[in-house]
Amino acid sequence: MQKSEKKQVKRGYRLRDRELAQPLINFLNTKDPGKQWLEKLIDAAARYDAAVMPTTERDWRRMAKRLDWTLPGGARKGPSADRPRPGMAQARDQALSQINSILGKFRLTSGLLYSVRGCWQVSWLGKNSSNALTQSLLILLNLASMGLLRKVKRCEDSQCREWFFQALPHKKFHTPECQERTYEANEERKDARRRWARNYYHNHLSRKGE
Ligand SMILES: [Zn+2]
Repeated sequence: MQKSEKKQVKRGYRLRDRELAQPLINFLNTKDPGKQWLEKLIDAAARYDAAVMPTTERDWRRMAKRLDWTLPGGARKGPSADRPRPGMAQARDQALSQINSILGKFRLTSGLLYSVRGCWQVSWLGKNSSNALTQSLLILLNLASMGLLRKVKRCEDSQCREWFFQALPHKKFHTPECQERTYEANEERKDARRRWARNYYHNHLSRKGE
């Protein structure tokens, strides 16, 4: 496969992932009170991630080795569970129990929706949650099982805070306008700090030399 083709395929994956996440993103951007449970879940998931995901290149290499371990004789050992980073075992356990306590609040039953040419279309139905919340939870779990939940992000612009799917790594803002606004606010803050430092020097420090 050529490099440009590979790029196309990657782009295709990203579009598919974003489409998959879109109903969840839409739900998180409503005012539905049920969304607080999903927000808490995403928050706990981020803390779990921080406790187990490698942060250095060396750790990534070590993890990659664990994922593909061929036993003597050619048999393959499946990937092992993520291990906590040094000193993070307690944080991992806390996040894990929070995740499970939120998930434990949902009561779901399997149900037949309808059939298509005799083939059942089945889904999980919420006993104590609205259909929108239940379906969003299912998408969240689906994304999480694909390692994609960490891409469900909040815009870092303090005036916006919309949820979005981070298709490109390191994207922190859901639109270029939000990025611009935050950048300008930071520049203004920096300017103000510089002005303050200059005044302070002028009023307090420069006189000492007189
Ligand atoms: Zn935004």
